[in-house]
Amino acid sequence: MLSHLLSLEGIEAVVVERHSRRRIEERIRAGVLEQWVADLLVETGVGDRLKREGLVHHGIALRFQGKDHRIDFAELAGGKGVTVYGQHEVVKDLIAARLAAGGAIVFEAGNVSVHGFDGDAPVIRYHVDGEPRDLHCDFVAGCDGFHGVCRPSIPQGALTVYERVYPFGWLGILAEAPPASDELIYAHHEDGFALLSMRSPQISRLYLQCRPDEDLNLWPDERIWRELHHRLETTGAPWRLTEGPVLQKGVTAMRSFVVEPMQYGRLFLAGDAAHIVPPTGAKGMNTAIADVRALSRALTAFFKEGRRDLLDSYSDTCLRRVWKVQRFSWWMTSLLHRFDDHTPFDRRRQLAELDYVTSSRAAATTLAENYVGLPME
Ligand SMILES: Cc1cc2nc3c(=O)[nH]c(=O)nc-3n(C[C@H](O)[C@H](O)[C@H](O)COP(=O)(O)OP(=O)(O)OC[C@H]3O[C@@H](n4cnc5c(N)ncnc54)[C@H](O)[C@@H]3O)c2cc1C
Repeated sequence: MLSHLLSLEGIEAVVVERHSRRRIEERIRAGVLEQWVADLLVETGVGDRLKREGLVHHGIALRFQGKDHRIDFAELAGGKGVTVYGQHEVVKDLIAARLAAGGAIVFEAGNVSVHGFDGDAPVIRYHVDGEPRDLHCDFVAGCDGFHGVCRPSIPQGALTVYERVYPFGWLGILAEAPPASDELIYAHHEDGFALLSMRSPQISRLYLQCRPDEDLNLWPDERIWRELHHRLETTGAPWRLTEGPVLQKGVTAMRSFVVEPMQYGRLFLAGDAAHIVPPTGAKGMNTAIADVRALSRALTAFFKEGRRDLLDSYSDTCLRRVWKVQRFSWWMTSLLHRFDDHTPFDRRRQLAELDYVTSSRAAATTLAENYVGLPME
């Protein structure tokens, strides 16, 4: 996305990617785009398929104590909504657009390392087909995810880490089954959280709260479906979860993580390289795109107007929004999950909060405006 935004400003960028094109185009991950992200993809010319295939949602349901409570985004957040469209589809559209425009993407780059970013002449070193390459550049954007090489290349002591690890994870499946609801259902259940989501009118994406180190071998498909029925079919209505062949399954551990600052010399961190959220608020990909939007503006101001101010304030600009997203993701997670150390008091308080969020217009509005995406500035 960063190289796409920069190319629209006439600024050259090379994407150095560790994996093959096929692998990153098939990797199923996030799937809910905030309103402004969907708008940005359309406005910058990579939204044709999104407009055709994306599912626009104007609300979600919170399901607890046998009832559904709809949070109406259109009414509470000024007509805004979210678009359900897989992250790997966004990746496919961006790769196609960059290659069609003659952009440079190095796939399957080995032994990637970054150097010289504390001076004026950074270098990215990597191998292609076993051959070493040096890429000399003006800036390095560390968009290489939580396990990438950029953040660990910053000298120890220059970064402060803020972290919270949750005592649970999500067991997620992708199933060839028409979603049993037109909108996402977030279910609070005494045996643990469950989420009904979707990728298309034919494909469901379903999650169960589980242990962070859950052994998938203990979860044959029949057990997953049984538990999903148990946690989701609680309203007493004749509503039934639709089943179908399981296409993919996996366990995601959950953590909140931020490093400050998000820059060091000419190296700028963006997305998961700098921060991680638990997926409950559907914010990971959206926040990564918010970072690179800010970075593309800062780099454009530098190259076109010789201004350094936006580069200097990049970290502060991003972190102001990042921390609000952290708060929301932590809050949604705390509201909906079962915590083993919760006392009966905590459980009653959690239910009271759900009741409040779904019965107070003011409280529902705070959920809605965070979910569809906070303002950029
Ligand atoms: C299994 C899973 C499920 C998820 N589900 C959700 C969800 O439902 N909702 C949600 O909001 N978020 C979800 N997320 C989080 C969301 O996908 C991330 O927040 C988002 O991908 C962040 O984008 P990014 O570009 O910063 O990092 P990434 O998407 O991780 O991109 C980093 C890229 O850098 C490459 N790379 C890594 N190391 C190197 C290296 N040394 N050299 C070169 N390239 C390298 C990687 O191959 C990758 O292509 C999920 C994440 C995972 C792993």
